[in-house]
Amino acid sequence: MVGASLAGLQAAQTLRRDGFDGELTMVGDEPHYPYDRPPLSKHFLAGAWEEEKLRLRAAADPDALGLTWRLGTAATGLDLEAKRLELSEGPALGYDGLIIATGAAARTLPGCELAGVHVLRTLDDAVALRADFDGGPDHVVVIGAGFIGAEVAATARERGLAVTMIEAASVPLGRVLDRSSGEAIADLHRANGVDVRLGVGVSGMRSAGGRVTHVDLEDGSAIQTSVVVVGIGVVPNVGWLEGSGLTLDDGILCDETCLAAPSVVAAGDVARWPNARFGGAPSRVEQWDNAIEQGAYAARRLLAWLSTDPDLATDLAPFQPVPWFWSDQYDKKIQLAGIPTETAAVVHGSVQEQRFVKIYLDDAGLFVGALAWNRPRQAIQARQLLAEGASAEDARAKLAPAPA
Ligand SMILES: Cc1cc2nc3c(=O)[nH]c(=O)nc-3n(C[C@H](O)[C@H](O)[C@H](O)COP(=O)(O)OP(=O)(O)OC[C@H]3O[C@@H](n4cnc5c(N)ncnc54)[C@H](O)[C@@H]3O)c2cc1C
Repeated sequence: MVGASLAGLQAAQTLRRDGFDGELTMVGDEPHYPYDRPPLSKHFLAGAWEEEKLRLRAAADPDALGLTWRLGTAATGLDLEAKRLELSEGPALGYDGLIIATGAAARTLPGCELAGVHVLRTLDDAVALRADFDGGPDHVVVIGAGFIGAEVAATARERGLAVTMIEAASVPLGRVLDRSSGEAIADLHRANGVDVRLGVGVSGMRSAGGRVTHVDLEDGSAIQTSVVVVGIGVVPNVGWLEGSGLTLDDGILCDETCLAAPSVVAAGDVARWPNARFGGAPSRVEQWDNAIEQGAYAARRLLAWLSTDPDLATDLAPFQPVPWFWSDQYDKKIQLAGIPTETAAVVHGSVQEQRFVKIYLDDAGLFVGALAWNRPRQAIQARQLLAEGASAEDARAKLAPAPA
């Protein structure tokens, strides 16, 4: 396994659970045992959780899975023909099967490498950002109103910090939600005291003594600040695979069974594959739940590939999960199952009371997704309905409030 995080660890666990008793090596460029990222922008940044609590359960006892851990070691190259992995430390590693789960890295703003300017992807990032929050800055600027930016803004407000959130698009979360839900996110942040600036880009930053002092905006305005968080998306970690022969195109391109090349599977944020459940155009999914499911699936796929047992080799259905995401902002739990579209209808509660369920239909009127705000029970139900291929009418009826 390359990538010692959620998908890689889940793959290792699945290999052992499914009876693989051969040698397993986990190569990870971070120095830490696998930890959970979602709390980094929530409980950890809030100061409520410490590092020990972040460790993924399957790595609580590092010896439990009988792995050789190569932490603090990056994979630097792959020779598919020779089945060999080049490493930043020590000799190359041969393999019979390879699981690539190298995830993604935070996108940065070029020319803004200043003290006080942060991204948030790793534990080390979170430790550095939390230390700056602990210093009680006068003002925090969050650039980008995606899920990470929005969660950081919420946590900063909960810590009593003044926050400005800047987004170049006209609504927050425009890439991941429908427009009116994005507007509801903007309202939520405004109601909690965030200065939300939409439709304006960042033109640059100023500094003194190497530390950021101002963020300049394209509308000519400037914001004075000593802490900036850049949350403008991620780039899949595939640079080390250049020239390997794998198809690299916004991630590692895989077939519908997560196979990227003979004896090589990919999983998690780095994998791009066609999910036939939703039309089959290859896409990447940057979600916690997907990393778990795909990590497990990829391990089984690899075992099937390596197996001489014909049943095992052919029995595996394509990987067709219902995507599932949650985000915690203030006292709101926002859960998305499936995929959002602009054809949406609220079927339970109301947006005004910020407790609702909305369903999404595709161009053909098929039920393809649901969004739940502070409606966790219906969120689970919606996911189940999507998995069953329920019709729009069925989803509407089942997710609506029970008659009094
Ligand atoms: C702050 C934050 C909050 C989040 N909140 C949510 C949430 O609320 N809900 C949700 O659904 N999802 C959330 N996510 C997303 C979720 O955490 C990711 O989808 C998940 O971590 C993906 O797991 P992964 O194993 O595919 O990749 P990653 O977790 O990115 O792990 C990949 C690992 O591979 C390592 N690596 C990269 N290149 C190499 C190399 N060449 N050699 C060796 N190792 C390498 C990386 O350093 C990293 O350790 C959040 C993410 C972040 C950062």
